[in-house]
Amino acid sequence: MKQSIFIAFLLCLLYFSIASPQETKQLTNSPNLLEYKLASATELQEELCTVPSDNSERELFMAKLFIQAGAKIQEVQKQAIDISDKPANNIYVVKPGKTQNIIVVGGHLDHVNVGQGVIDDWTGACAVTNIYQAIKDISTKHTFVFIGFAGEERGLLGSRAYLRALTKDSLSRHKAMVNLECLGVGESLVWVNGSDKELVDTAHSVAKRENLPLSNHTLNGVGADSNSFREASIPAITIDGLPVDKFSFIHSPQDKCENVNQKFYYDSYRLAVNYLLELDKIDNLLINTNEQPSKP
Ligand SMILES: [Zn+2]
Repeated sequence: MKQSIFIAFLLCLLYFSIASPQETKQLTNSPNLLEYKLASATELQEELCTVPSDNSERELFMAKLFIQAGAKIQEVQKQAIDISDKPANNIYVVKPGKTQNIIVVGGHLDHVNVGQGVIDDWTGACAVTNIYQAIKDISTKHTFVFIGFAGEERGLLGSRAYLRALTKDSLSRHKAMVNLECLGVGESLVWVNGSDKELVDTAHSVAKRENLPLSNHTLNGVGADSNSFREASIPAITIDGLPVDKFSFIHSPQDKCENVNQKFYYDSYRLAVNYLLELDKIDNLLINTNEQPSKP
């Protein structure tokens, strides 16, 4: 789709968008008493359960959610990915920071042909747009890239295309990637053997501080967009909410919004907002990682 047609689509979508109530919270531990604007749990539920099934329509829906979250139409970008049969695009928004060091926050917007693909991974993609809403007006040190990856189910195609398109200089300024995958079926989890240690440790300290649940789990033989970043030597973490005994929900008719627990999902969303703001505070984030990432 040409960018002009894409923008026209976005304008139509914006026309039908409805402003949603927001919660605000003061960051009392910040010297500037900044505020972030959380979406409400009801708003999240609505955005989860109305996602279209068609992957191309999901790209537009993600763009619409970014606009609803406060992005200007021209700030919503698409990036074509190399896929043989049908065109597909990553959809993203960049929030500039005080420095050009970058933190990427991603979920994948595509899904397999079975089920609604709400759990896997609209929960992640929808969280990305709402995290953007929460922190878009906060002054951050890092530049944030909020992105919905296409083609994840076809072999992490969107995240690989994103990384391939980076210059060497830009790649070196990518300090961390936070991947949100299959949230809200259970309480928040870290894919511990697929994530970098410093990112995992920070996630746990934030969860403890915010009194939000977070546990580790070890998963073998699975893939996620965080892998692409780790392969490119960018520290990455996957946060999910899919306990192993519920793995049968994904890539099956059970992947539907009724199987996302509203409270667990909202907790994961709040955790992610607080986590990203904490990562932003870390100077020289993860430059000194000596350990090689463990193979997932
Ligand atoms: Zn997935």
